[in-house]
Amino acid sequence: MKKKHSDTSKFAVETRIVTTGREFAEHGFVNPAVYRASTVLFPSAQALLDYNQEYTYGRKGTPTSRALESAIAAIEGGHATKVCSSGLAAITTALLAFLKPGDHLLMTDTAYLPTRKFCDGMLKRIGVETTYYDPGLGAAVSGLIRPNTRVVFTESPGSQTMEVQDIPAIAAAAHAKGAIVMIDNTWSAGHYFKAFDHGCDVSVQAATKYFVGHSDAMLGCITCNESTWPVLKDAFEELGHFAGPDDMYLALRGIRTLDVRLERHMKNALDMADWLRGRDEVADVLYPALPNAPGHTLWKRDFTGASGLFSIVLNTDDFKAAAAMLDGLELFGMGFSWGGYESLCIPFKPLRTATPWNRKGVCLRFHIGLENTDDLKADLAAGFTRLNAALA
Ligand SMILES: *Cc1c(COP(=O)(O)O)cnc(C)c1O
Repeated sequence: MKKKHSDTSKFAVETRIVTTGREFAEHGFVNPAVYRASTVLFPSAQALLDYNQEYTYGRKGTPTSRALESAIAAIEGGHATKVCSSGLAAITTALLAFLKPGDHLLMTDTAYLPTRKFCDGMLKRIGVETTYYDPGLGAAVSGLIRPNTRVVFTESPGSQTMEVQDIPAIAAAAHAKGAIVMIDNTWSAGHYFKAFDHGCDVSVQAATKYFVGHSDAMLGCITCNESTWPVLKDAFEELGHFAGPDDMYLALRGIRTLDVRLERHMKNALDMADWLRGRDEVADVLYPALPNAPGHTLWKRDFTGASGLFSIVLNTDDFKAAAAMLDGLELFGMGFSWGGYESLCIPFKPLRTATPWNRKGVCLRFHIGLENTDDLKADLAAGFTRLNAALA
C-alpha cells in the first residue's frame, strides 16, 4: 500500500479485502477518514458550472463511500458498487433500475420475504408482473421466460429453507432469451460465492449482515458487471440514495476482518449442524455445507465456503414445546437480522406460492456466532431437555 490509487486486482481476495479502498486514506493513516459531508466547495464560478471535479456533492460520493464501494466491488469481483441505506433498499433499487411497466419478472419462491412484498406491492402497482418459480429449477427456468421477461432474480441459498440454486444453468437460460440475472448474495457475503463468475449480472447484499458484522448498522450494496453498471448507476442517483458516513465506515471496518470471521462462522456452524443432525429431536438440518444435506452437491460445485446461517426442522409440530426450548436459551438471542458475531435462533414459517412446503415440524433458523461451540451445544442440550419435558 505504498502507492496511492494502487491497483489491487493482482492480489488474492484475502489481500484485496485488507487493501482495497485504502488509497482513500491520507496523511499516512491506515484508514480513510469519515467524511460527514453535504456541500463541496468549488474554486470558481466556472468550475461550479463545469461540475468536473472529483467530488461535487455529498450524495454523489465522498472518499468514505468510494473506499467502501471499491472494497465491496473487489470482494464481489464486479465492475463497480453502489452503497445505500439498507439491504432491502438495494434490492428494490436494483429491480426498479431494470424494470418498467409491461415487463415481467421471474422471482425465486424462496426470496427474502420483504422482496416478495415489494414485487406484490409496488412492482404490481407500476405494472410489472411477477412469476414466482421453484428455486430447484435450473435450465428449466427457460420455459417460464417470456418475451417481456427482463430480470430473473435468484437468492442462493434461499431465505430460511436454504435451497441452493443452479445459478450457471439459470444464467445461461436467461441470457439466451435476453433477460439479466440478479442475485441476493447476502448469505455468502460475496466472499464464498463469486456471482459474476457464475453468470450473474447484478449482485445485491444486505451489507447489514457480514460486512458490518457486528449488528450495529444497516446498509445495502449493489454490485454490477460492466454492461449493467450505467443503468444501475443512473437509477441509483435518480432515486437519491446514499448512506450515513459512520455506517459506511463501520462496514469498511467490518470488511477488513471478513475472511477470518467467516472462516470461524463456518467452522462453528459445521460443528453445530453436525451435532444437531445427531439429535433425536431434529428431523432435518438444512445447511448446504453439511455433507449429504439438501443442496450439498451444488454448494460444493459453486461455493468456496459457507456462512453461519442455517435452519433445522424439528420432529415435533408443537410450537409451545419449541417455545419452551427457545425462551430459556442463554447464548442464542431471538431477533431478526444476522451476520453479527453472536449466535441467534428464531422460529419461522416458510411462505411459498410456487412450490408447497410439506414439512410438518417446527422450523428454526440458527445464526452461529463466534462463541465456543461446547457452550453453544450445552445451551441447546438444555433447551432440548425443556422441549422434551413440554412434550411429555
Ligand atoms: C437481511 C436481509 C435482507 C435485507 O437487508 P436489510 O439491511 O435488513 O434491509 C435482504 N436479503 C437477505 C437474504 C437478508 O437476510
